[in-house]
Amino acid sequence: MKIAIPAEIKNHEYRVSMTPAGVRELTDQGHEVWVEQNAGAGTGYQDDEYEQAGARIESDVEALWAAAELIIKVKEPQPVEVKRLRADQTLFTYLHLAADETLTRGLMDSGATCIAYETVTDAQGGLPLLAPMSSVAGRMAVQAGAHGLEKAQGGSGILLPGVPGVAPARVTVIGGGVVGENAARMALGLGADVTVLDRSLPRLETLDHRYQGRLRTVYSTRDALEAAARSSDLIIGAVLIPGASAPKLITREMLAMMTPGSVLVDVAIDQGGCFETSHPTTHDEPSYIVDGIVHYCVANMPGAVARTSTQALSNATLPWILRLARLGWQQALREDVHFRQGLNLTGGRLVYPAVAEAFGLPC
Ligand code: NAD
Repeated sequence: MKIAIPAEIKNHEYRVSMTPAGVRELTDQGHEVWVEQNAGAGTGYQDDEYEQAGARIESDVEALWAAAELIIKVKEPQPVEVKRLRADQTLFTYLHLAADETLTRGLMDSGATCIAYETVTDAQGGLPLLAPMSSVAGRMAVQAGAHGLEKAQGGSGILLPGVPGVAPARVTVIGGGVVGENAARMALGLGADVTVLDRSLPRLETLDHRYQGRLRTVYSTRDALEAAARSSDLIIGAVLIPGASAPKLITREMLAMMTPGSVLVDVAIDQGGCFETSHPTTHDEPSYIVDGIVHYCVANMPGAVARTSTQALSNATLPWILRLARLGWQQALREDVHFRQGLNLTGGRLVYPAVAEAFGLPC
């Protein structure tokens, strides 16, 4: 199969959809992979590494899109890319269509088959192609929080692990899913005093067993949230209610209960944020202060660590891409109910009910 790896063109997107190691797996199986010139430059992968993996480097972006049967990307296609798509092509990428009606209609007009990373499921009910980015964001949240606690950032001047004779910082993670567990794990690794709040008792039980008393698990109630506000130096917001915007769990009123210079990191900001005073920020200006409390609310945290994120994404997507390339989309999806969940559009029709409902379109 002819497979295209275009360079990402969305503003400040440095990731690329496939590493040279992933490309080699495809070319070893006899597939033809075209990589756009400099597609890997933002992550430190040079064209000659892709060439050594068997790819053809293409500088003519129109030719690259025109030749492809399967196009692998990271971000949703931008308007110029949507125009290039044809009905006989398959696109595999993050789409997040429910948030973008113009994109949805553009992809319907293209007639292309569009499979979204974020709606592919696994046998445990998880989202295996979203999870790697949640792991990255969870781990980064602690780095961001530690930085925010520094005086120069408006923080209280606390070092997360403390030092011998000085207590470590108290970190509360709200939401103990993929982001939350990764944040908790990082904070524990740094020696902080960690509490995880969640509404799911099975999830709290899993964390309790896994960390063997090294962190506290607390059922998330208003009381527990207020206690967290009073006692925490760093609070990381990592909740998700699938298909809904995040609940506002730390209110403006609660900021007054916090020690000035404490830090809120709202990882759930891409779902509207779980703190009342959060608004989305960028890597250029990631934090701001409200009522003496430092807020970090970057909506695309993994973009800052593009190389790690690219490798993590490519590891997760590769098995699915190999199947798409070997079997073609129809057979690959027919054979796997979880892969089938990824199909959002084909032949000009929406086939993912949640997206159709969002825009009142037929499905
Ligand atoms: P997840 O489904 O694995 O975990 C979410 C957890 O939140 C679940 O355990 C759930 O029980 C818990 N929860 C729901 N309501 C709660 C409440 N009221 N109180 C406490 N816990 C509650 O989701 P995830 O993959 O960990 O993602 C978490 C959030 O991070 C999502 O909003 C996701 O979109 C976001 N995210 C953001 C970035 C970024 O760059 N900012 C990157 C990746 C993920």
